[in-house]
Amino acid sequence: MRMTDLLEKKKNGGILTAEEIEFMIRGYTQGDIPDYQMSAMTMAICFQGMNARETGDLTLAMRDSGDTLDLSGIRGIKVDKHSTGGVGDKTSLTLAPLVSSVGVKVAKMSGRGLGHTGGTIDKLESIPGFSTELSMDAFISQVDRIGMAIMGQTAELAPADKKLYALRDVTATVDQMSLIASSIMSKKLAAGADAIVLDVKCGSGAFMRDRKGADALAQEMVSIARHAGKQVWAYITDMDQPLGNAVGNAIEVREAIETLKGKGPEDFRELVLTLGARMCIFAGVAGSFDEAYKLLSGQLHSGKALEQMMRFVKAQGGDPSYVEDETRLALAANTEELRADRDGYVTSIACAEVGMASLALGGGRETKADIIDPQVGIMLHKKVGDAVKSGDVMATLYYNDEQKGREGLKRLKAAYQIGETAPEKRPIILGEVEG
Ligand code: URA
Repeated sequence: MRMTDLLEKKKNGGILTAEEIEFMIRGYTQGDIPDYQMSAMTMAICFQGMNARETGDLTLAMRDSGDTLDLSGIRGIKVDKHSTGGVGDKTSLTLAPLVSSVGVKVAKMSGRGLGHTGGTIDKLESIPGFSTELSMDAFISQVDRIGMAIMGQTAELAPADKKLYALRDVTATVDQMSLIASSIMSKKLAAGADAIVLDVKCGSGAFMRDRKGADALAQEMVSIARHAGKQVWAYITDMDQPLGNAVGNAIEVREAIETLKGKGPEDFRELVLTLGARMCIFAGVAGSFDEAYKLLSGQLHSGKALEQMMRFVKAQGGDPSYVEDETRLALAANTEELRADRDGYVTSIACAEVGMASLALGGGRETKADIIDPQVGIMLHKKVGDAVKSGDVMATLYYNDEQKGREGLKRLKAAYQIGETAPEKRPIILGEVEG
């Protein structure tokens, strides 16, 4: 088989076989197929597309390019959740302890943040002592013992995707639906769960800005999961404004814990309960969505979900007293307030700008080498649709460096729009794609 023939075929709109795709991905991962041929292929895919079978086979080839986790040592059905990323997305921090408190097994590999979206691993590391570097044996035995574990993603997971993503990034070929969906799903499938719940974000802070794109991505990912023989369900959820009220690291952990105590923002709680209910059904813990939703709401109010969070934090070396009293998680001592400059309603909050404001404060990374300040962040007191009076505090920024604080405030100011009439409230759950 020759790569030039495959390029000719795709250029002319041909359909690649599973063998051809496997040859291409194996060759590229091993360095036998050079970057220039692979970039010609990704560009040809941008123009000619891939059908569902090709996309599924591309995903499986990338999944098999490195380690795949064997979770068979864990008793029960293992259910994973994946979010396409957004601002203030601390969902896994609340969801994993919540669903595992009713017996869903969660063996989760998570990433670090880059750019305007934060990463679960960075957020968890703001809990003193907490470690996300577990050996594979320790990870599996912890899930079997207490029902959940979260560790950093290993480099050996889907290495073909890592190489291909870096290539797409510099060849203007990131935004092709089959390439996006296969990239995300190759890593998810390598992580070994039996069932997957997908949270496809839609809006100004998300990878998919509009509903059409988000729906298409959700469909594509669901079809890949089916091709791989996994149970799957996708939700399309709002990311046109930050999720919940907290954006940062320690500040998001605080909000995630508050929610485990039956408090927390409404939008965030509804999202967690919706994704969680679906996970419960997959795990066989509940027979219907309503039953699962009720069961999980009960866990938030009875303290059972919180107890599970304490168990989890302790198991990974963290100090559970920070879960008992989340206000002990330190926030930066310096604060700055964003105030409304007139009466009206918050009509929009440019979500990516809020993420950039948090990044400017030092809460995220512009490059992989940057070090995160866990104490900085933003608390939104007003969200889209809320009435404001001139002088009202709309958000508080926490910062440690004067110049960064000023830059963060400037960005946050630009994110808020106030108008005279109340906008229609967007629900948090915008749609779903059944598996
Ligand atoms: N996230 C990924 O992991 N891959 C993509 O292609 C896009 C977003």
